[in-house]
Amino acid sequence: MTPNREDYLKLILELGGDRQKVSNKQIVTGLAVAPASVSEMITKLVKEGLVAHTPYQGVQLSETGLATASTLIRKHRLWEVFLVEHLGYSWNEVHDDAEVLEHVTSEKLAQRLSTYMADPQICPHGGMIPRAHETVHEKERQLLTDFAVGDTLRIARVLDERELLDYLVTLNIKLGAIYQITAISPDEGPITIQDTHGTEVAVSYKACSTIFVDQIKGAVD
Ligand SMILES: [Zn+2]
Repeated sequence: MTPNREDYLKLILELGGDRQKVSNKQIVTGLAVAPASVSEMITKLVKEGLVAHTPYQGVQLSETGLATASTLIRKHRLWEVFLVEHLGYSWNEVHDDAEVLEHVTSEKLAQRLSTYMADPQICPHGGMIPRAHETVHEKERQLLTDFAVGDTLRIARVLDERELLDYLVTLNIKLGAIYQITAISPDEGPITIQDTHGTEVAVSYKACSTIFVDQIKGAVD
C-alpha cells in the first residue's frame, strides 16, 4: 500500500515534527518507501502549506499540518484502544483496521467512542491521544539509540508501523518493559538489551531508532 499524504503527516508528527525538523531519512525508514517518493510528497506538502522544508535538515509541520495530523491521530488512536481493549487485538494487529476506521469516523463518533472508554489518553503504542480540537505534543523523549552500555531504560513509546511492531513481537518486547543495554555493535549494528530476568535480545539499529524510552535512574529489581 502506498502511503498517502495523511500517512506522511501522521508519521512526521509521531517523529516529533510538531517542534523539530524530521529528516527525510527518518521518513524513509518510518514509511518503508523510496527516498524519491518522500521528496516528491514533501514538495506537495510544502505547496499545500502543511509543512515547512529546510534543505538538508528536514521538515516541520505548519500549524495547519499539525491540526490535520492531530485530528487523524486522535481518531486512529481511539480505535486502536478500542480494538485492543474490547476486541482482543494485539498491538501489532491494530494498525490496518484503525487506518481504515479513522477515515470514516466523524467527530461525533470519535467523541462518543472516547467517552465510552472513559477518555483514554495513551494508545497501545504509548502515543498520546489528544482531545477534540487539541493538538498532539508527545512528551519529549530520547531514542534507544541515544544511550550507552549500562544504561537502564523503560520502553515508553514505539512508532506505529506494522513491520516494526511485528518485529518487536517476535522479540517479545513490550511497552512499559525495563531493559539494560549490555552491548552496542559498531556502525549501526544491533543493540543488545537485557530484561529484568536476565534474558538478552539483540535489536536491530533500525528498530532501536524508532523506540522512545525513559531512562531509569538507580537500581531496578
Ligand atoms: Zn498507536
